[in-house]
Amino acid sequence: MESYDPEKIVSIRGLLARKPKSIMRLLNIIKKKPLTEEAIDKLVAEGWKVVPTDDHSSFVNRRKKIIGLKTDFKELQRDVSFLHEVAHAFYGQALTHNHPLDPDTVETFWFTDWLAKQWRRNPELLRHAILKFGLEPRIYDHVTRKAFSEQRTPEQFVLPGMEPKSNGRRKTIRK
Ligand SMILES: [Zn+2]
Repeated sequence: MESYDPEKIVSIRGLLARKPKSIMRLLNIIKKKPLTEEAIDKLVAEGWKVVPTDDHSSFVNRRKKIIGLKTDFKELQRDVSFLHEVAHAFYGQALTHNHPLDPDTVETFWFTDWLAKQWRRNPELLRHAILKFGLEPRIYDHVTRKAFSEQRTPEQFVLPGMEPKSNGRRKTIRK
């Protein structure tokens, strides 16, 4: 999807307005079977793993239990893409959007994207998923600073115009 923007927040209301039945069905599925840390452990115990890919997008292969994660995705896009594929691994046939003739393909894609972003905003869940699948933690916002607080170093704060003024001591993380 050329114009895909990982920062874009998809409105679940908008999706519901477009495809109420399908989106309600998906909301019920995730309500009945939420992604938990135990569920992530189970996926890994079942043999699921992440492999880097140079394909045009990330993907899941359910037969081989592989999540192909695009190597050129950075930071937020890497994490959202990873969790998007975790959603496919976790929900299986109940959450797919790979058939171009399926009338709900577009909405299901955006639903999966929305779900991945919900999970990504949960520092504990994000931390667990990233570490359990052996990915390198990436710190780029308040969620990831909280998720990986032990890995913060002064260099990670250096963005243009945002150099730390202090002596490099850790700032307290607000709850
Ligand atoms: Zn997908």
